Amino acid sequence: MARFVFITGGVVSSLGKGLASAALGALLQARGFSVRLRKLDPYLNVDPGTMSPFEHGEVFVTDDGAETDLDLGHYERFTGVAARKTDSVSSGRIYSNVLEKERRGDYLGKTIQVIPHVTNEIKDFISIGEDEVDFMLCEIGGTVGDIEGLPFFEAIRQFSQDKPRGQCIFMHLTLLPWIAASGELKTKPTQHSVKELRSIGIAPDVLVCRSDKPIPEKEREKIALFCNVRKEDVIAAPDLRSIYEAPLAYHREGLDQAVLDAFDISPAPRPNLQRWEDVQDRIFNAEGEVKVAIVGKYTQLEDAYKSIAEALTHGGMANRVRVKTEWIDAEIFERDDPAPYLEGYHAILVPGGFGERGTEGKIRAAEFARTRKIPYLGICLGMQMAVIEAARNLAHLPDAGSEEFDHEVGKKRFTPVVYHLKEWVQGNHTVARKVDDDKGGTMRLGAYTANLAPKSKVADVYGETVIEERHRHRYEVDIKYREKLEDKGLKFSGMSPDGRLPEIVEVPDHPWFIGVQFHPELKSKPFAPHPLFADFVRAAKEVSRLV
Ligand code: GLN
Repeated sequence: MARFVFITGGVVSSLGKGLASAALGALLQARGFSVRLRKLDPYLNVDPGTMSPFEHGEVFVTDDGAETDLDLGHYERFTGVAARKTDSVSSGRIYSNVLEKERRGDYLGKTIQVIPHVTNEIKDFISIGEDEVDFMLCEIGGTVGDIEGLPFFEAIRQFSQDKPRGQCIFMHLTLLPWIAASGELKTKPTQHSVKELRSIGIAPDVLVCRSDKPIPEKEREKIALFCNVRKEDVIAAPDLRSIYEAPLAYHREGLDQAVLDAFDISPAPRPNLQRWEDVQDRIFNAEGEVKVAIVGKYTQLEDAYKSIAEALTHGGMANRVRVKTEWIDAEIFERDDPAPYLEGYHAILVPGGFGERGTEGKIRAAEFARTRKIPYLGICLGMQMAVIEAARNLAHLPDAGSEEFDHEVGKKRFTPVVYHLKEWVQGNHTVARKVDDDKGGTMRLGAYTANLAPKSKVADVYGETVIEERHRHRYEVDIKYREKLEDKGLKFSGMSPDGRLPEIVEVPDHPWFIGVQFHPELKSKPFAPHPLFADFVRAAKEVSRLV
């Protein structure tokens, strides 16, 4: 049966709780344990699928088709364990399950209350698959004291009581602010945060304290004394140059040892940190730099394309170069010629997105990359834009466009080279959707197989001809235009197994021009860079040597 680590945060948000959880997962793996990480989010959205990337950052999609919080991306990148639907839940989902059961009469006429009905639903969620791993790490979103977080805190308190003694521990992240005037790190916010936690019945076993200065011995003793932990359980979390330093940095600070001590696991198995030493070496000993332009819509908030930024970093690591990414708002190219903006870059990436705004600019970016022979990677919408560009400029379909944009304004303006898919095959069953279905969870979501054309560029890049990648979209390139486009040099080099859905296009007569209907960035890891990103950065590196 799994041991449980509950990870909570206090004082302020954005302390890097997700990263600390992911790093702890990696360290427990390094000591030979199996782990699974889970995120419990107090917001009322049923899932983040309907939340704007401007507000909540990217939506991370799992193999089994769940739209989840971007922290699950960190978990996967650090542990390599593929997240599942059952690794992410929100208050919205919990309440909607409870209310569904109430309507069905499952509660046999009882009065439905937060305790026990909502808390039981949370506890049931936490224990799903508990027999499968040595450690289950559950992160609670938000900070202690938030009204909407209370049912989750109450549920984990009860959960730890339901389990035999010693099977659950609590790890709490706080902030030690530096007060320049007195030249001190202040422990009071941490003390208050722990007091708040203890007032709802949770006594932390390990404290992770974020600060931009090392914690002096005196302060460490003070925190231990006032927060009722041992001095060794006060872990310093200094700012890092790269997130991929986190496992080694936390190990040096004694995080994994403190956690194993809290569970009384002795002797603790020795860690093998080779993987993280190699990752760190590749990050800090890169030679040279390549510049990649990302032409997108959600450019103000980097978290909106979190996995793409990380996958590019991994691609850099594979080639031992630094990747400098710059975000360019696609709308600029609807007014201005892209050339002066894009000329200095070694590669261009057009990421996924929704809605018409900025798409004409993305089409121009794709045209620039194709005609100037600059490496181009189009992801999802970025692939659709590359196809529309080729249709308009090579295949003589000047009105080529996507049905998505016509639906938005409610009138027909484009030849639908990209159309709304209403029915498709997943495994051995057919999925059907209408245009006006609910917005949440109605896309082609999760892992699908694609067959790659032998001898194509992508088959060469992947080193295989059957791949599985994650999807999140409603629209598809229409196979009807295949012949016309292939005649003009845009090859359909990856197809769904039934041959109906184009999954990859490429321009053979170009150093590197690939569009993919799926999201390869979701599966890239620092210790296993995704082949498409590794090869895209390799191509960029070649361009950087030529200029
Ligand atoms: N908006 C497009 C679609 O739904 C692309 C989605 C995406 O880029 N993830 O098909």
